[in-house]
Amino acid sequence: MAYKCFNCQREIDAKNVERRVICPYCGSRIISKSRPPVIKKVKAR
Ligand SMILES: [Zn+2]
Repeated sequence: MAYKCFNCQREIDAKNVERRVICPYCGSRIISKSRPPVIKKVKAR
């Protein structure tokens, strides 16, 4: 699971936010879960 700081927009490792979700860079508590971009492969027929 990847997290993203809402304040500084930096990605945070999930290991750093096991319990307390605090941005290690700016100390913001507003963290949003960011999903990795889904790559859809369309098969050409
Ligand atoms: Zn931050």
